[in-house]
Amino acid sequence: MSKEKHHFQAEIEQVLNIVINSLYTDKEIFVRELVSNAADALEKLRFLQTSGQAIQQPDLELKISVTTDETAKTITIADSGIGMTNTELVENLGTIAHSGSRAFLKRLGEDKKVDASLIGQFGVGFYSAFMVAGSVTVQTRSCRPDEPGWTWISTGAGGYEIETAADLPRGTKVVLQLKEDAAEFAKDFTLERIIKKYSSFVPFPIELNGKTLNTVRALWARNKNEIKEEEYNEFYKYIGHDQEAALYRLHFSADAPLAIQALLFVPIKNWESMGLSRTEPEVNLYCRKVLIQAKSKDLFPEWLRFLRGVVDSEDLPLNISRESMQDTSLMAKLNKVLTSRFIKFLDEQANKDATLYQTFYGTYNRFLKEGVVSDFTHRADLAKLLRFETSALPAGQLTSLADYVKRMPTDQKDIYYLLAPRREAAEASPYYEVFQSRKYEVLFLSDPWDEFVMDHLREFDSKNLRSAEKADLNLGDDQAKAAEALSASEAEALAKWMKEVLGTKVSDVKVSQRLVGSPTVVTDPDQFMTASMRKLMKNMHQEKQPAVTQVLEINTRHGLIHKLNQMRQTDAALAAKVAGQMLDNAQVAAGLLEDPRDMIQRLNELLEQLMVK
Ligand code: ADP
Ligand code: MG
Repeated sequence: MSKEKHHFQAEIEQVLNIVINSLYTDKEIFVRELVSNAADALEKLRFLQTSGQAIQQPDLELKISVTTDETAKTITIADSGIGMTNTELVENLGTIAHSGSRAFLKRLGEDKKVDASLIGQFGVGFYSAFMVAGSVTVQTRSCRPDEPGWTWISTGAGGYEIETAADLPRGTKVVLQLKEDAAEFAKDFTLERIIKKYSSFVPFPIELNGKTLNTVRALWARNKNEIKEEEYNEFYKYIGHDQEAALYRLHFSADAPLAIQALLFVPIKNWESMGLSRTEPEVNLYCRKVLIQAKSKDLFPEWLRFLRGVVDSEDLPLNISRESMQDTSLMAKLNKVLTSRFIKFLDEQANKDATLYQTFYGTYNRFLKEGVVSDFTHRADLAKLLRFETSALPAGQLTSLADYVKRMPTDQKDIYYLLAPRREAAEASPYYEVFQSRKYEVLFLSDPWDEFVMDHLREFDSKNLRSAEKADLNLGDDQAKAAEALSASEAEALAKWMKEVLGTKVSDVKVSQRLVGSPTVVTDPDQFMTASMRKLMKNMHQEKQPAVTQVLEINTRHGLIHKLNQMRQTDAALAAKVAGQMLDNAQVAAGLLEDPRDMIQRLNELLEQLMVK
């Protein structure tokens, strides 16, 4: 029979031009496209079979066979799928007006039961073959009974020819005659690597030169209730490259606003905190079980980079732009949906099993904190996931901010926190005294990052987060009366004298309303300056120290202050020395004294004087 000559539709010519001039950044994706087409054709066949339609050669195994010939420089991708009739060949491979998958759906009528995974979108994947092949031959035979076989051949530009082919098995075979510069693709191991990379989860066996490559099933696309624990574990080992079982697993699907199937894992170990380099995200993006982007950087915000697993979305365009993922608005949408879902998941886990959540939190809290600081969109939700040591609970037991708020007495307006390297230090801190006396709960923050977290968060549940150092609180009345205070005039005179003696080391000396057991405390009225912040500033501006804004507060009910007040009249020199020491003690308590040499010198002098007596 004679050859029919055809021209490509004008748009196809254009597409081919773009493809041949390599619009695809990665030539290897032609393998993915052709294997996907084969898988689509098989899926359609399976559908016809299960819906009881008559097909030819019903006993053929459903599989994809890839063969390479290094000497001839050819690659052959064959499937036993639905194949194509002459008309379909022209329509599907010669025109862009119909996407084959769409036409397929139409033919089946508006049947709502049609598997959604068949809904391909407008695609031009087939033409990617011309990136690497000088000529492409398609031999195909439709599954419909009595349809003959056809050979379609094209060298790209200049159209294609179709002629009949005798004795073809059902399905489609695509033969690529590789260009010189693409000859490497005919190597068995090259092709094996590419198929494994993109098509490991294709739901039909893929054989490469007789060897079956894909053995892992796409668990994420299956019903949760039908999946065994071991299957999840096996899958995680494979996709997460981890020998240990995961700490958390989230398997979910959504239809709106995007069709998503996701299977995400939190590794039991946080490799980043173990001194290894920054963790790279290991969530792969799939569209209908075919890899679109490995280790996608755009699926989740950076602070979730510890996640591993798979996201599959049918809504991703199966078109030429997918390689570069330029459809950023879609990615942003995906990102938002996934991130919100994962945060919700963590919140659920925290409520379900607090102990396990505390393990997670111990390992990953820095990531959540990074999120609070850097991710404005999710900040408020992330705040619910934070946990802290607190004065209200025994050591080692952490609280959420929400639980703190529940415990707040009615007269307490703000949420208070105290930064200290250890819990014991916080409890012994003079800043804590006023809270203890008023029975106000204080969060004890020991992670240096916590201060930045609080700075960015600023509030929770419409309550201000306030540093205990800055709190403008007075002692309850009972405490205030517990010990005799100096009279107001005496106290004022003492404070004035101390300021004179201490000079520029403090900006002021004041009578404190917040101390119980400590004689002195330093406070800093500067809104944004907490002790640790000041320390940081000091380290940053080595030479130019910021101006002293610290105030020394004195507890006029404390015995030491009473004695100091007497001594300044009898032995002013010694009293001045003691005052200096008391300031240093307060600095030490605040974690502010950097260079103790002067202090030790003075202390030695004081000890000497003590022993003379
Ligand atoms: P898409 O797959 O997105 O529809 P392609 O350019 O990859 O776009 O393929 C175009 C059409 O050609 C397909 O929709 C399908 O109808 C047909 N086709 C391609 N490869 C095969 C195949 N192996 N078996 C049957 N039909 C195929
Ligand atoms: Mg395709």
